[in-house]
Amino acid sequence: MFDYLIVGAGLAGCTLAERLANERGAQVLLVEKRSHIAGNAYDCYDDKGVLIHRYGAHLFHTNDRDVFLYLSRFTDWHHYLHRVLTWVDGQLLPFPINLDTLNQLYSLSLTADTMREFLNSRREQREAVNSEDVIVSQVGRELYEKFFDRYTRKQWGIPASDLEPEVCARIPVRFNRDGRYFADTYQGIPKQGYTRMVERMIDHPKIKLMLNTDFAEIKDVIPFRRLIFTGPIDEYFGYALGRLPYRSLRFEFEQVHQEYFQPACVVNYPNEFDFTRIIEIKHATGQRCPVTTIVREYPAGEGEPYYPVPARKNRERYEQYAQAAAQLSDVYFVGRLGQYRYLNMDQVVREALNLYERLGP
Ligand code: FAD
Ligand code: UDP
Repeated sequence: MFDYLIVGAGLAGCTLAERLANERGAQVLLVEKRSHIAGNAYDCYDDKGVLIHRYGAHLFHTNDRDVFLYLSRFTDWHHYLHRVLTWVDGQLLPFPINLDTLNQLYSLSLTADTMREFLNSRREQREAVNSEDVIVSQVGRELYEKFFDRYTRKQWGIPASDLEPEVCARIPVRFNRDGRYFADTYQGIPKQGYTRMVERMIDHPKIKLMLNTDFAEIKDVIPFRRLIFTGPIDEYFGYALGRLPYRSLRFEFEQVHQEYFQPACVVNYPNEFDFTRIIEIKHATGQRCPVTTIVREYPAGEGEPYYPVPARKNRERYEQYAQAAAQLSDVYFVGRLGQYRYLNMDQVVREALNLYERLGP
């Protein structure tokens, strides 16, 4: 009899496995349907020896000191400040929009004050009810159309006006020359990669790991006291209340026989290309090698569920699932898919640590 069956060996599942085994002495069975641990943060070496992020660039950033210190028990960090460029009107521009972006785009020499005046004359007074409002109310329609409109339609398959404000609110507008993508206090990449970090988390005699195993295959066979589910919450309930939409991605990897392919880790394409961005992860990992691997991200409606879609009707459907979940005893849902929330890695670890505290002995 296991004390806990944990479904999913991503950051949520592995944080809980580590805490429960290490601190509470619980016997944990961790079940993962993929052939590897670390969930979407999984990284590995490709056949040219380049360390790649298999499911898109994963940049760790947080202001949550406790989460940073918790993960730091299992890894040292390669300090890296993430930068993104975007391909607009035939130029590579810094993104999020800052002073340099506008000066380069319009051949101007704005200062912080004149940038405010410039945007004040363009922005529209709107309450930020959806993601389009968030951007148009800050920078106006023209810049919204150049930088956000098509990227968002590609990424989500729906316009920004149908997405909750929090999606585009992830992207700030800066009245200075700060070209960092994130402003958080702690930023970096695990020195030996995410997979190695997660391996260390679950390296414990009381944690048994089963890869290539779906929860459905073992749920009636293996006895357990409590269940922690980090897969899609609607899947757990057999889609009884309807399907929750997820956005997927197709990753197209290409090996390039030169040291670097592009000047930054991520270049966004908010325009006619079918892909949203090209990633060259070497910039972030700091790996030195004579070849490089890039990946183009093509958004898709079908496939692995990577992103919950933050729209009102989906949130309402999720709330119904959450109510059904609250009726169950000894079953807990956590993580990006379990909570149907657009969570970053640090937030997922935070949610897992919070659940651990709530679980009691
Ligand atoms: P997951 O990593 O999805 O893990 C869930 C696991 O459960 C999966 O391995 C899955 O195979 C398994 N599973 C599901 N159902 C079953 C089942 N029935 N039986 C067995 N196993 C099952 N966050 C950042 O902080 N910074 C970034 O730069 C960043 N970039 C991202 C880029 C992309 C393209 C994506 C998709 C996400 C990104 N994220 C980023 C978010 C990050 O991936 C998540 O916050 C985090 O990895 C989620 O962890 P999780 O454990 O909740 O879910
Ligand atoms: N976005 C955009 N243009 C860009 C980058 C982002 O319109 O060049 C929008 C898009 O809707 C995206 C959201 O902002 O989904 C959040 O971007 P982020 O880079 O945080 O997305 P993630 O890395 O999570 O895919």
